[in-house]
Amino acid sequence: MVYKSLLLFGAPGSGKGTQGKILGKIPGFYHCACGDVFRSVDVNSAFGQEFLKYSSKGQLVPDDITIGLWAKQIESMQNLGRFKPESDYLVLDGIPRNVAQAKMLKSTLDVRHVFHLDCPDKAKVYERLKRRALKENRLDDINDEVIERRQKVYERESAPVLDYYGEKLITHVNSDQPPFRVLRDILNDVTAWTDHD
Ligand code: ADP
Repeated sequence: MVYKSLLLFGAPGSGKGTQGKILGKIPGFYHCACGDVFRSVDVNSAFGQEFLKYSSKGQLVPDDITIGLWAKQIESMQNLGRFKPESDYLVLDGIPRNVAQAKMLKSTLDVRHVFHLDCPDKAKVYERLKRRALKENRLDDINDEVIERRQKVYERESAPVLDYYGEKLITHVNSDQPPFRVLRDILNDVTAWTDHD
């Protein structure tokens, strides 16, 4: 099965999850956030422990575990009829998170477009992450050191994914704006390139 996909891409705190949740409410779009898939696993299970080990340090979970769990989740959503790959766009957030994952998913994803959410105001990003950490009990964004590491991991391991897909597929969106404006920019673009679907 090949999934027609849109990728929401950006550093931690850039607003991928916020936009993904809204887009996922639109008929014809199914949102899947990799971090949410991981967090839904029982923390006492072997995977749950493995996830905490990496995420609490701001590191990425190893690729084979990530892709395996993600694929299982997508398959079960398909079986439940929540995600209908014949008609739905798969809106991905948080995956692929490095070039190795992009290559592993090459035959599974038909990437139609990549939205790069860019928030140049780092102080704003840190503030968003800390607020979320308290609200959602996220261990990975509790302290500055882990936040800092997550940003560095993004620059080093995730940002090269943009080059992998290439500028032709990418729209850079300024996510240093209120969510409804970011959404408007994304949707303006979606209408432009889905006209022929
Ligand atoms: P954010 O939205 O702040 O970027 P996520 O919820 O996407 O955070 O991810 C939280 C943590 O889950 C990451 O720091 C990482 O440890 C792990 N994770 C999520 N997605 C992936 C992935 N595709 N590959 C490896 N690790 C991942």
